[in-house]
Amino acid sequence: MKAEIICIGTELLLGQIVDTNAAFLAKELAGLGIDLYHKTTVGDNLERVAAALELAWSRSDLLILSGGLGPTQDDLTREGVARLLNEELEFNSEAWRQVEAYFRKVQRSIPESNRRQAMFPSSGKIIPNHLGTAPCMLVEKGRQRLIALPGVPLELKGVWELRVIPYLRQILMSENKQVLTSRVLKIVGIGEAALEEKIIDLIKSQSNPTIAPYADKGEVALRLTAKSGSETENNRLLGLMEEEIAQRVGEYIYGYNADNLEVVIGRLLKKAGWSLATAESCTGGLVAHRITNVPGSSEYYLGGVNCYSNSLKISVLGVSEATIREYGAVSEEASKAMVTGVRNLTGATVGLSVTGIAGPGGGSTQKSVGLVYLAVDIKGRIIVDKRIFPYDRIGNKEAAAQAVLSLLWKGLASKNSY
Ligand code: ATP
Ligand code: MG
Repeated sequence: MKAEIICIGTELLLGQIVDTNAAFLAKELAGLGIDLYHKTTVGDNLERVAAALELAWSRSDLLILSGGLGPTQDDLTREGVARLLNEELEFNSEAWRQVEAYFRKVQRSIPESNRRQAMFPSSGKIIPNHLGTAPCMLVEKGRQRLIALPGVPLELKGVWELRVIPYLRQILMSENKQVLTSRVLKIVGIGEAALEEKIIDLIKSQSNPTIAPYADKGEVALRLTAKSGSETENNRLLGLMEEEIAQRVGEYIYGYNADNLEVVIGRLLKKAGWSLATAESCTGGLVAHRITNVPGSSEYYLGGVNCYSNSLKISVLGVSEATIREYGAVSEEASKAMVTGVRNLTGATVGLSVTGIAGPGGGSTQKSVGLVYLAVDIKGRIIVDKRIFPYDRIGNKEAAAQAVLSLLWKGLASKNSY
């Protein structure tokens, strides 16, 4: 199956928004084992949308469209598809019922313009969109298929996962008699190059499952993909390969697939029945933000102190003036005093602290921009880490947040020693 992605939207051409949908879809198609040969971006113009669709339809089996399903005059995907198929747009009552149901759910009245979203080409089938107003569209002509999805990334992802993946898997199964199954190992505390070195023989001799490492922000993901006649067999093959990899780098594997550090940390804290508090200086609450992104984090996260100034480090966390004077606010000593202070203040079982120089100013010959001290305190046992990041201000903040979560995970994962 040869696939092609077509993203529709003038803002994409103007560089006003970054085309994250195309990147998402490309990654997903690769995960399903579907070859992607072309990606096209086209503005909100009927002639050019229709031309892009005609070209794609002439050379590909599967067209995935993003955007232009909204209710306004510049949402032209439905018109473009109708033109491609040489069909008229017709009022589709099933599509209309879904638009109505959405507005009922959010308790708003329907503007007249939303009727446009129920206008489908006669051979267009509906793919329900549980996250927005725009019903999505499926066209099937022999071995050729077109799937039109909304531009809003959250909706596109939601419909993709709930509706499109099962649909594509079924086609792949019936056409190839084979399915692909992927498992992503989430790895932290070892760089991509060092990881690759440890498993280079496995990578070189890979056939089934295949192994693909890729670097993410402050971590590495290893995608294993198995191909066989059944999901059960795939899972067996993936299990064997995972075991092999875990023998070399098991201590760095923190989770799977959609896991991230804050999710896994939450799981470990809940299991232990422990609470957490945070003391952040240079990250300004970024760590607290990530921790509270996890549903149910109120079960273990007590809260934190965003202690940007020295005076707050002293008055709220009880860091001594002498510590700041002698070692500075960005020092191992200060990070330790901060983490002890936040545990004393909150009574949390576990604490973490971050203090550093995010830049671009504030560096000195002894302490360069990007220098960060991180501390984790689990029941009075403190571990500290010092890192120097080379990024810009935002990059350094994000890297510091990631690093302290990584340190916390490491501490919790080896908690048998506490
Ligand atoms: P709506 O009902 O909101 O009009 P739509 O299906 O018509 O949805 P668009 O109007 O094309 O989609 O885009 C809606 C918003 O979704 C855009 O303003 C933009 O923020 C985001 N968006 C659109 N296309 C992409 C893309 N390819 N990558 C990332 N974001 C996108
Ligand atoms: Mg729109």
